[in-house]
Amino acid sequence: ASDKKQEQNDPLTEQGTLDKFIPDSASIAASIKYHAEFTPAFSPEKFELSKAFYATAESVRDSLIINWNATYEYYERMNVKQAYYMSMEYLQGRALLNAIGNLELSGPYSEALRKLGHNLENVANQEPDAALGNGGLGRLASCFLDSLATLNYPAWGYGLRYRYGLFKQLITKDGQEEVAESWLEMGNPWEILRNDVSYPVKFYGETTSRPDGSKEWIGGENILAFAYDVPIPGYKTKTTINLRLWSTKVTPEEFDLRAYNAGDHDKAYAALKNAEKICYVLYPGDESIEGKTLRLKQQYTLCSASLQDIIARFEKRSGKAIDWDSFPDKVVVQMNDTHPTLCIPELIRILMDDLLPRHVEIIRKIDEEFIHEIISEYGMNDLDLLDQKLRNMRILENIELPNSVVELINSSIEIPDTDTVEEIDVVDTDIKATEEKEEEAEAKEAEEEEEDDEDEVGKEEQEEDDGEEEPSVEEDTKSKPTWTFKVDSKQPAMVRMANLCVVGGFSVNGVAEIHSEIVKEEVFNDFYELWPDKFQNKTNGVTPRRWIRFCNPDLSKIITKWIGTEDWVTDLQKLAILGKFADNEDLQFEWMESKRRNKIKVASFIKERTGYDVSANAMFDVQVKRIHEYKRQLLNILGIVYRYKKMKEMSDDERKTSFVPRVCIFGGKAFATYVQAKRIVKFITDVGATINHDPDIGDLLKVVFVPDYNVSVAEMLIPGSELSQHISTAGMEASGTSNMKFAMNGCLLIGTLDGANVEIREEVGEDNFFLFGAHAHEISKLRKERSEGKFVADARFEEVKAYVRSGVFGSYNYQELMGSLEGNEGYGRADYFLVGKDFPSYLDCQDAVDKVYRDQKRWTRMSILNTAGSYKFSSDRTIHEYATHIWRIQPLLLP
Ligand code: PLP
Repeated sequence: ASDKKQEQNDPLTEQGTLDKFIPDSASIAASIKYHAEFTPAFSPEKFELSKAFYATAESVRDSLIINWNATYEYYERMNVKQAYYMSMEYLQGRALLNAIGNLELSGPYSEALRKLGHNLENVANQEPDAALGNGGLGRLASCFLDSLATLNYPAWGYGLRYRYGLFKQLITKDGQEEVAESWLEMGNPWEILRNDVSYPVKFYGETTSRPDGSKEWIGGENILAFAYDVPIPGYKTKTTINLRLWSTKVTPEEFDLRAYNAGDHDKAYAALKNAEKICYVLYPGDESIEGKTLRLKQQYTLCSASLQDIIARFEKRSGKAIDWDSFPDKVVVQMNDTHPTLCIPELIRILMDDLLPRHVEIIRKIDEEFIHEIISEYGMNDLDLLDQKLRNMRILENIELPNSVVELINSSIEIPDTDTVEEIDVVDTDIKATEEKEEEAEAKEAEEEEEDDEDEVGKEEQEEDDGEEEPSVEEDTKSKPTWTFKVDSKQPAMVRMANLCVVGGFSVNGVAEIHSEIVKEEVFNDFYELWPDKFQNKTNGVTPRRWIRFCNPDLSKIITKWIGTEDWVTDLQKLAILGKFADNEDLQFEWMESKRRNKIKVASFIKERTGYDVSANAMFDVQVKRIHEYKRQLLNILGIVYRYKKMKEMSDDERKTSFVPRVCIFGGKAFATYVQAKRIVKFITDVGATINHDPDIGDLLKVVFVPDYNVSVAEMLIPGSELSQHISTAGMEASGTSNMKFAMNGCLLIGTLDGANVEIREEVGEDNFFLFGAHAHEISKLRKERSEGKFVADARFEEVKAYVRSGVFGSYNYQELMGSLEGNEGYGRADYFLVGKDFPSYLDCQDAVDKVYRDQKRWTRMSILNTAGSYKFSSDRTIHEYATHIWRIQPLLLP
């Protein structure tokens, strides 16, 4: 019966009922004009592009608010179970074309703007990207919101409204420079300030016990979190869900009016600034202790305000008779990574203490209960095993066990019988040491005499100081061995957020098959053994609305024509139909022409952003993503350098017959304090500056670094890409999501067996994916060999490093960058990311790419099969799986 119910509500086949009242272009133009007139920040006589954007956005927002209110009211009335997606990051990008597209109003809006003297695309380009995230994790959250709304799932997102999102990247002769991105400067037309929604959030202070045993949190700092709501429209449905973003301000009580009146304005403003700065900047560098504290404050603000809000909504929807037992039937919270882990103790705090927090105590309590669970699972017979499990799994790291636990364990130890000493030896090294100590006691007596007057504390200190595995033996139980749990006083005590998450959460999932396997077999293996059913896989996905339909309208038309319906936009499985036509010459022709048109757009975009001219006849080879050593942009650029060196060694004719012309496109931001990543950016731009101006090379090879990679740049580049690189060291990329976007847009992938690459290759077919490199299970052995100096580098790898060091790419000192590949003294771990190991197979694979590209028919067939095989990677599929297997929520169609 429940299957049947599920079938009836299958969101992948059933669509919401969008009211068939479609506003015409005249009424839309009137609405835009109305907003142009009543938006006070602009001159009334001019209707320039930027003003057209804000007026258009305000007009779209009217429609969104109507649907958003209807959705909100209906959820409230039906009191359904709702999922809450908690994420420190959302990489929303622009909203205008997405909203108009989802509302099916692109045509009328284009026409209305034309009537008013503007072009919709130019107007849309005025919108700043909302970049409240760093990369894949934030973009995933945004794709999920689109799918949740489209599939009519009752769900909300919660996040923080950073005043400065991800920095703006400038590329100068020195490499990357960061400039604060003030995306809110001109106002954000998509958000609705909710002065009526605010919650107190408290930091620091201390807890005291009241006479009745309950706890009180006193002192500390108090701030107020207040809400901005961003409506998130679904595609072809009235459902418009909410993304609630918190901002922070001072509470009136904390503002020191007395100091202000006395003229001490700095003092008065201090509390104000302290409260507001929490939401100033996305993910501040956490190298400094101030950075770490701020990050923790951000995380706690998100958790505390969101949970107070969720509970307030639960209470409101429950009416007079609140049944707390039904809380899990109405609420489910998904934490995006471990960043919102504080949700766990915060929820307990709110439920147990009635808004009186004491998180450390609560975490200690969770730790203690979990310790008992570990003891009851593994028993106390094998104390080595128990010690190891406690060490691996406890939530608190390097903190003594509660006394009651130590006593419990010690009470289980029996006085050793001399005949069974050997058995005890195996049980526990401390016990063994105790026995030995007894035997050696007499011999040592003389030495110990000098220390005889030391008290217990002194002994403990000494033990901690020398860090030796000395057992502690209580004087009065000499004959009975004592078990202790060692902590290292030189190491900090820590709360392990990930362990807390696994213990506190009811379900834990990886984000690609290989990642989920690593989570189960390595990262949380002890937990997996304890609770195998808690672990799941949910392979990531991306929204086909933004990432095919809206960013690639040209290809979308072709897909619709050959599939015979536009339903693929919400039922991506239909893309598989394209596979039948992969060899059809007409489709191949249309497919290639479409790619070419998109490449021409990319070429003019590159010209505008970098000044370089590139030919649309060359292969467009792209690696765009955060700059990180594990993502191995260094492998890519060294491959290019090697290619360039070979070209230089050839005659002009030889060069032209040996190499396929390529435009190698890079983009991505390096974290501001990540020195090595910034060196890589500088290296890429230096290589580009040399190669792009080399008259011997011409259009055979160009290297461009597109500055300020963001969602809008991705929407431009991905449709015009032919080869994209996903070449992380195997086992290090949880999933990747841009790999899915490229495949959907008919771009072939070169990649390692890592993250979702593994599944993409399975889906599109092994013959349609360029695979190279070491496998995840080999990596630790390879690293060990590398660090022991057993690695024998391929001659081509030595050659390319020597070439870079020879100074071909300018006078910048690349010693550190090249040194990091060798593990020379001072450069840390020897090629930890195994660039040297994978370099030869990467070069060979790139040769294979050239070979296939020369056969355009074959290449186009592979391209079509990539799009056809990418349907699994729709975030609609992912969200449907989360909803069904974890959240247990049902879609709800608005009447
Ligand atoms: N950054 C931006 C701006 C993106 O649009 C994306 C994905 O599309 C990513 C980062 C994540 O890229 P990857 O999956 O290659 O790490």
